[in-house]
Amino acid sequence: MELYKKSAAELSALIKNKSCSVEEATKSVMDRITQVENKVDAYITICEQDALTKAREVDEKIAKGEELHPLAGIPIGIKDNISTKGILTSSASKMLSNYIPPYNATVIDKINSAHMIITGKTNLDEFAMGSTTETSYYKPTKNPHNLAKTPGGSSGGSAAAVSAGQAVLSLGSDTGGSIRTPAAFCGVVGLKPTYGAVSRFGLIALASSLDQIGPIGRTVTDVAMLYSLICGHDNMDATTKNIKHGDYAKNLSSDIRNISIGIPTEYFNLDLNDEVRDSITKAIKKYEELGCNIKEISLSSNEYALPTYQIISAAEASSNLGRYDGVKFGYRSSDYANLNEMYVNTRSEAFGDEVKSRILLGTFALSAQGYNDYYYKAKLMQQQISSEFTEAFNECDAILTPTTLTSAFDLGTDAIGDADSCTVAANLAGLPAINLPCGLDSDSMPIGMQIIGKKFDEQTILNIAFAYENACGIVNMPEIV
Ligand code: GLN
Repeated sequence: MELYKKSAAELSALIKNKSCSVEEATKSVMDRITQVENKVDAYITICEQDALTKAREVDEKIAKGEELHPLAGIPIGIKDNISTKGILTSSASKMLSNYIPPYNATVIDKINSAHMIITGKTNLDEFAMGSTTETSYYKPTKNPHNLAKTPGGSSGGSAAAVSAGQAVLSLGSDTGGSIRTPAAFCGVVGLKPTYGAVSRFGLIALASSLDQIGPIGRTVTDVAMLYSLICGHDNMDATTKNIKHGDYAKNLSSDIRNISIGIPTEYFNLDLNDEVRDSITKAIKKYEELGCNIKEISLSSNEYALPTYQIISAAEASSNLGRYDGVKFGYRSSDYANLNEMYVNTRSEAFGDEVKSRILLGTFALSAQGYNDYYYKAKLMQQQISSEFTEAFNECDAILTPTTLTSAFDLGTDAIGDADSCTVAANLAGLPAINLPCGLDSDSMPIGMQIIGKKFDEQTILNIAFAYENACGIVNMPEIV
């Protein structure tokens, strides 16, 4: 039995009825990593020994008859900007290439208390800045469907690992599309939760007002299971909201009759690749067949979403990255004669080009000279984008758009920014949004659609995704050649 090919829900059932042990499941995934990692490069750190030890511990608990969480024993990859106590957490930067956190992110505590098995830490763009995983200090990750192409970013390692069977589930983070873009390019499901639904405690910040951690899986059910585990109020993150979350997996329903789905005209006026447009159009027809009401709506400010995002995210990043000065933790230059030189050389040597350019842009946007013209205007535009969504949701229950303008492009294509035109608005407005695979192009590369929901209404977008997946199936795991 090739256990690494199973979904989390299937594996959970096999473990529960004792058709396989957690050790067998973990071994299967670890063997798959050994088999394909030199081609895919999804991981920065692989935790093979710890994973197998933990797996045996979980098997012992099962043998003793302990009642465990449904995700107990399921192998999960963690994006390397999420703090893991005692395990390198580099954020794919030279700056943190020696950083071993003394504490766990809240989501990691939850994963450990559910007895999931951490397979390792996955690759990303440096400090999550990028859409291709190529700004990583370590290496670019490859798309398992075609190794010459990007898996997307910044959570490219997390999406590629799940797509290739090198993890059953993974965690990513999404500031402007970093879960949804790689999920679209790799043919997997990825959810960016509502801002404030999942604790950011222990997430290495890019832009704190936009960042959210979220699940990536091969099926909607798997994503719903992991989301149910990680969401909820946390005293360590004052931006998490104290509301009651149900069990999103148990409450999944594919009866979506009379749900109304808004189709924003402006997204379809973007420079969309024809095959992406065709796939999304077919998906919309499928939703009509499934009984949804399809409504054309307008989100005219989306035109300004990308520059608005670029200013706000760079401004916050420039402030968040101020802490990396070589004093308290992380990299320190060995070449300096005084304190100032130590700061300058540390930051010059350990940040990559993309990070440096965003620090420059962000610092300028917040300066006395730039504030009114850039940062303040971007914040006003953000409000407008948000209120347009609020109005749109008076007319529909969810909004369907492409996730990306094209399928995965070749590694080495200079495309930072363009890949995000459909995804950043959900972050600016704090809304939940999911990527769901909706077909393959003529080169057999996956295409994704995005479903955006009302705040804290993850259940509706998960149901809409679930109904489509039940009708059309999931993307086959690629042969890796
Ligand atoms: N690609 C976007 C950027 O470069 C989004 C990154 C993210 O969501 N972390 O900023």
